Amino acid sequence: MTSICFSSLSFGMAVLSFSCNSTIPPQHQVNVNHSSNNNRKCHQNVKSLIKTIGVPSIATPPQESLQRGNWVKLICGASFEDVVDIRNLSLVYTLAGVDCIDCAADASVVSAVNEGIEAAREIVPIRRPWVMISVNDDEDLHFRKAEFDPEDCPHDCSRPCEFVCPANAIQLHSTGTLGELEGGIVTERCYGCGRCFPVCPYDQIRAVMYIRDATATAELLHRNDVDAIEIHTNGRQTDLFKGLWDGLGDSTKHLRLVAVSLPDVGDTVISSMNNIYSIMEPHLCCFNLWQLDGRPMSGDIGRGATRESIAFAHRLAAAKDTPHGELRLWRIKSKCGIPLLRFKFSVIEIV
Ligand code: SF4
Ligand code: SF4
Repeated sequence: MTSICFSSLSFGMAVLSFSCNSTIPPQHQVNVNHSSNNNRKCHQNVKSLIKTIGVPSIATPPQESLQRGNWVKLICGASFEDVVDIRNLSLVYTLAGVDCIDCAADASVVSAVNEGIEAAREIVPIRRPWVMISVNDDEDLHFRKAEFDPEDCPHDCSRPCEFVCPANAIQLHSTGTLGELEGGIVTERCYGCGRCFPVCPYDQIRAVMYIRDATATAELLHRNDVDAIEIHTNGRQTDLFKGLWDGLGDSTKHLRLVAVSLPDVGDTVISSMNNIYSIMEPHLCCFNLWQLDGRPMSGDIGRGATRESIAFAHRLAAAKDTPHGELRLWRIKSKCGIPLLRFKFSVIEIV
């Protein structure tokens, strides 16, 4: 069975949930192989499949979805950079009707997303989802890569790191008579989820943090194929946000959406949001959105994230001086007994 699932809940009148599963009968199923050699064949297979099962054309503009509360975004990952997979995912999720595709702020990745979108639109005249790039102003869990040297690994290690990696980013094999390990982390596939760090019995895996360069991001935004930016900030030091925003200069003027992603930093969160808004306001020419994480990367790094997100939502709901812009709560899973609040949020399929 092939399925695409996405849900959204809307607070205010009632708790709504929506889930779409497309089940493809076995006779119409195709193998989607991610290797580059099979990319053309994969495209042909998807094209035949879509023609067979039919996909309705979606015309609702992404901004309307955002305002209605049924916005769905594909997150390719701020650090995921496998352009073949990204292109194929963008193709499939464009056909599924997502409103936005969020990807790494890298020129090749952005090109791959746009290629996937255009390949989908050649199949069905579907409206173009927005392309969003993710950047950071400081160290952030979304912007890291795992790293280790397989030469330092004991030969008899059972390689639990390989087993837990959800992105197939760790590829090892034994060589030689002593069974030395070769291979390691496929950097472009690692999205920094952190699952491998605690499972290594020899503490070999390190996290390498990085910060996206503002000048390179501004150059990327000056291209005509990026519609939105998501800025991850820690919510504590707005001077770092200001440094990044100033560095982007006038590159943000053609954007349709600026999203600011910040975690729950306690009692100061509203004043931080207001400070950030006042920094952006003079050069903000588009819609703005607050993506609020109870705990960043919580889908990957632990239980209790839903509870934290809801507690965060309660506090925000009680606040009177929230800044201009849509408020979105991220990372809440469905089926969790959510109280009625005035926020809208989307549960997003994380790839
Ligand atoms: S488990 Fe996560 S952090 Fe580790 S290599 Fe895989 S994607 Fe990267
Ligand atoms: S679990 Fe640790 S020691 Fe074992 S192969 Fe992976 S990185 Fe090396």
